[in-house]
This record gives sequence, structure tokens and C-alpha cells, in this order.
Amino acid sequence: MSRLLIATNNQGKVREIKAILGGFYDEIVSLKDAGLSLEVEEDGETFEANAVKKAREAAALAGCDALADDSGLCVDALGGAPGVYSARYAGENATDEDNNKKLLRALHGVKERKARFVCVAALVSGDKVTTARGEIEGVIAKAPSGSGGFGYDPLFFVPELGQTFAEIAPDVKNGLSHRARALAALQKKLAE
Ligand code: IMP
Repeated sequence: MSRLLIATNNQGKVREIKAILGGFYDEIVSLKDAGLSLEVEEDGETFEANAVKKAREAAALAGCDALADDSGLCVDALGGAPGVYSARYAGENATDEDNNKKLLRALHGVKERKARFVCVAALVSGDKVTTARGEIEGVIAKAPSGSGGFGYDPLFFVPELGQTFAEIAPDVKNGLSHRARALAALQKKLAE
């Protein structure tokens, strides 16, 4: 029987991954389902490196296939920052609000505000590592708007939707997010 461990404690991610990869495994479990805990230092310089590191450690811990993802916000005018440092942009224990404030300060007076959310999903199965990337483009708003989502969502404005990620319904975000796109790309690779 094939089993996949998802290296996350985020139940939203677990649901999304089960829906997309359910056809490839008999059983898909989260760290919590498996009664495991995993703390991985995300010290890679790329999303790929962090996702693969997390997936490898999870696979070794559980003794089965494992999937992990790493994501962040890349702002063109900041040379791709905060990138892999998105969660701790304003410091090690920064809150989402701290990070958003720092981002607005960094872009004060900047006209070119294009940005993208990036997600890399990594699946480790024995010696085989498969990675896939998903991105969504938007612009950084001049002030936060909306109360949904998390992280940089209140500042991430998607011109085609005319709204920030914090203003749109969760299922709309889940359908077009960088994470959904990375998982869809991974599913495609696995089906090949
Ligand atoms: P991780 O992939 O869970 O390590 O996320 C890294 C960080 O990137 C988060 O803490 C957020 O600051 C940011 N981030 C990643 N995905 C999103 C998203 O969908 N919305 C808002 N912020 C995000």
C-alpha cells in the first residue's frame, strides 16, 4: 500500500494536497495524522532547496514518500526580496503585520510594484526527487486591504481580479494560488 506524508501542520494545505494527489496514493497523511513532529531549519537559498530539504527529512522520519512545499513573495523592485526570507522579513519573530509594514516602507515612493508569489513543491520517493514550481503575479498595493488569507495577502493585489488576496474568497484563492499551480504542475509530472 502506498502512503504519502505531507510535511506540514497546515490543515488547509493538507486538504488541497489530498484533493490534487489523492489518485496517486492509497493513503495521504499529515504530520499530525502520523503523530510526528518535524522542525526543519529553512536555511536554503532557494525555494527548491528548502522544499527538498523538508521533504527529504520527512521521508526519512516516516519511512515513506513525503511531500513538502516552500513559498514566499518576490518583489521585482527589491531584486526578488523577501523571497525565501518572507516569513522572517522583519526579523526572526516577525508577525505578518510587521512584515507588511516593512514591505510598505521598502516600497515607499516606488512606482514599479510588480511582485509574484512563488511556491515549490517537492516530492521525495526513495532516491527520486520531483519538484514543481507555481507562480502568480500581482502588484503590491499602497495600503493593506481585506481581512482574509494570511501573510502578505492584504498587500497582494491581483489586477485581473481587481482585489487583493485578502479580499477574495478562499476557494478562489486556492484555485489560482502559487501553491495550487505548483501542485498541479507536480501532478502533471507524476502522470507523465
Ligand atoms: P512557508 O512556505 O509556509 O514557509 O511560507 C513562507 C512565507 O511566505 C509565509 O510566512 C508568508 O509570509 C509568505 N507566503 C507564502 N504563501 C503566501 C500566501 O499565499 N499569502 C501570503 N503570504 C504567503
